[in-house]
Amino acid sequence: MQPYNHVVIMNIGFDLDKIFINYPPLIPDRIIDRLYKKKSNGELLYRFPSRPEQILRKLSHMSFLRKEIKKNVSFLQDIAKEKHTLYLISSRFLFLKPETERLMKRLGFHGIFKTMFFNFENKQPHEFKNEIIKKLQLDIYVDDDFPLLKHVAKQNKNTQFFWLSNRKKPEKLTRNITAISTLSDIFQNFHNKTTSKI
Ligand SMILES: [Mg+2]
Repeated sequence: MQPYNHVVIMNIGFDLDKIFINYPPLIPDRIIDRLYKKKSNGELLYRFPSRPEQILRKLSHMSFLRKEIKKNVSFLQDIAKEKHTLYLISSRFLFLKPETERLMKRLGFHGIFKTMFFNFENKQPHEFKNEIIKKLQLDIYVDDDFPLLKHVAKQNKNTQFFWLSNRKKPEKLTRNITAISTLSDIFQNFHNKTTSKI
């Protein structure tokens, strides 16, 4: 397999939370994830928070609790100088719209992404992301949510998915999902169709 050739121009999509923005400190990730996700008959199902929970969640989205992940934001700023088309695809629900818009302004993301998609219609996150990935015909999509990636990877066979996780080194998990530990692993592990063994 050949290394990724930087001349290729690609459509690249990124998730927001846990990719560019951290969860609040002191709360284990799995608790936050569990609040949102539940499984029903093996199907992926995300829970929409109740009103009191929404208020708590809004508090947890105060800017000092949601720090940017600096090395990932700077990677993004670097690749924004290349010719790739970049998209942000976040399944944040409508109740977080004001906080999210403030955050996008603070990070200057309007100047980086061609389009930013948010789940302000409160769809199921995996269905929302699936629709957008399909519509944009992404070459690459990066997320930290593995169950979600498994769902969308099955339906978008020409997209390569990268799961940002705590792995020590990149590992190809399925035909089109690769686990990575840092965003710059994307380009070392991307193989376009002509060089792919698949
Ligand atoms: Mg995320």
